[in-house]
Amino acid sequence: MPLPPDLRDYEWVNTTFGFEVPKLKVETAGQAIGIMGGTFDPVHYGHLVAAEAARHRFGLVTVVFVPAGCPPHKRGLVRTNPRERYRLTELATCSNPWFRVSPLEIDRPGCSYTIDTARAFRALYGPDARLYFITGADALLEIMTWYRVEELLNECQFIAVTRPGYGGDQLRAIIDEWPAAFVSRFHFLAIPGLAISSTEIRRRLGTGRPIKYLVPETVENYIREVGLYQTNA
Ligand code: ATP
Ligand code: MG
Repeated sequence: MPLPPDLRDYEWVNTTFGFEVPKLKVETAGQAIGIMGGTFDPVHYGHLVAAEAARHRFGLVTVVFVPAGCPPHKRGLVRTNPRERYRLTELATCSNPWFRVSPLEIDRPGCSYTIDTARAFRALYGPDARLYFITGADALLEIMTWYRVEELLNECQFIAVTRPGYGGDQLRAIIDEWPAAFVSRFHFLAIPGLAISSTEIRRRLGTGRPIKYLVPETVENYIREVGLYQTNA
């Protein structure tokens, strides 16, 4: 079991979001579970650093990566089939004893809605578990459009991590519009900035540029073995 996070070792100076954010709160009652949702097309170090930072800060007993089956906001845009993305995520996470991968969304027919995933986690871990959904700052820009977002926020809290290129005035303006009760379900966490995206990795692979040190070696080896992302589509 990891030790509960110690707030004394943390100085809350968060300039990376580009504005002041609500103070980090860490509750300790109930088991804390992290859910790292994403398309993971492919998974990269940005995802892994986000999940690990959240785990450490919030004393999460586990972080479960949940590759999306058919993300509603990326309909028709996902390059790789769910089984391959799942496999890549397994390869990326297996060296971290706190990380798990769940086939929940890829096994579910139809589109993947986070509210369904959160409810499935609630059923699995029980009413006392604290569920934390981990996202990058870019996801905050559109979160109000998520399906049944209010119900989702009743079910789980969010850990929003910094991501290079997202933050500042645009994000601030959006958060300023949110009701206070909504904001109180978010925890903002500054993490080491990695300007890596799956889109960029796909582009690099499609144009013969290196991806070494952007993804774990196991992920790169599998991509090359199976021949994923070979064309710049
Ligand atoms: P794509 O370019 O295909 O959208 P992506 O790199 O954004 O891929 P996703 O699978 O869309 O990866 O992201 C899953 C989650 O991880 C999202 O909440 C996203 O904000 C977060 N995330 C992705 N990359 C980073 C990063 N470099 N730093 C912080 N968070 C990230
Ligand atoms: Mg993305």
